[in-house]
Amino acid sequence: NESGRRGLVIGNWKMNMSIEEAALLFEGMKGEAPACDVAVCPPFPLLYPVKVMLAQFQDQIVLGAQNMHWADQGAHTGEVSASMLKELDCRYVILGHSERRQAGETDEEVNLKVKQALSEGLQPVLCVGETKEEREQGRSGEVVISQLHAGLDGVENVNSVVVAYEPVWAIGTGLAATPEQAQDVHRTIRQTLTNQFGDAAARVPLLYGGSVKADNALSLAVMDDIDGALVGGASLIAVEFKGVIDGFS
Ligand code: PGA
Repeated sequence: NESGRRGLVIGNWKMNMSIEEAALLFEGMKGEAPACDVAVCPPFPLLYPVKVMLAQFQDQIVLGAQNMHWADQGAHTGEVSASMLKELDCRYVILGHSERRQAGETDEEVNLKVKQALSEGLQPVLCVGETKEEREQGRSGEVVISQLHAGLDGVENVNSVVVAYEPVWAIGTGLAATPEQAQDVHRTIRQTLTNQFGDAAARVPLLYGGSVKADNALSLAVMDDIDGALVGGASLIAVEFKGVIDGFS
């Protein structure tokens, strides 16, 4: 788009990929330096091997994680802290993904995680989005505004925050939102951030997620407030992920 904000494409591998498959993906990603920011978010056990693999890209592809705990450290069996992610050179952490919200994660937990990520120097990728039912009831804007207010409660500086609009009905369905539907919600998100943070909101990258692929990336990227994409399925396939990166470059 014409905003002057640099494109940002983040791959969310979800619970997919082995070490060997990751190496093959990066083999297929070699080539020209992308003209937008790119990150991949592997499952926790792959963070270290992928960090090693990414050295070949000299910071043109950076690392992110898919979740973290809100506490500093301590008796939280099975959990991972922000400082652990930071130590592995993660720049981003996806927070409040709808698959985690559906598994019981609350707005309050997402808010604690956002604040903890920021205090450790990670960039939270705060996910918001309505269900099919909420869209049919005409409540998309209202739902997204309420998730933003809750997720960013008590946050003073929005400079390191990334927001991803991911309509639940578009995730993994092959049925992406139209560029107009996505832009409509992205405008609402920008306005909500402006109300809370003033001019700084203009610099926040707003990503669209939900069935983004090589062949619909450009049509989304031209919209005023769509600055990048959070990509699930298509981020596992080198040609597809490269195509999305090209769309936002
Ligand atoms: P999808 O997933 O691209 O496979 O629809 C997006 C996401 O859940 O982040």
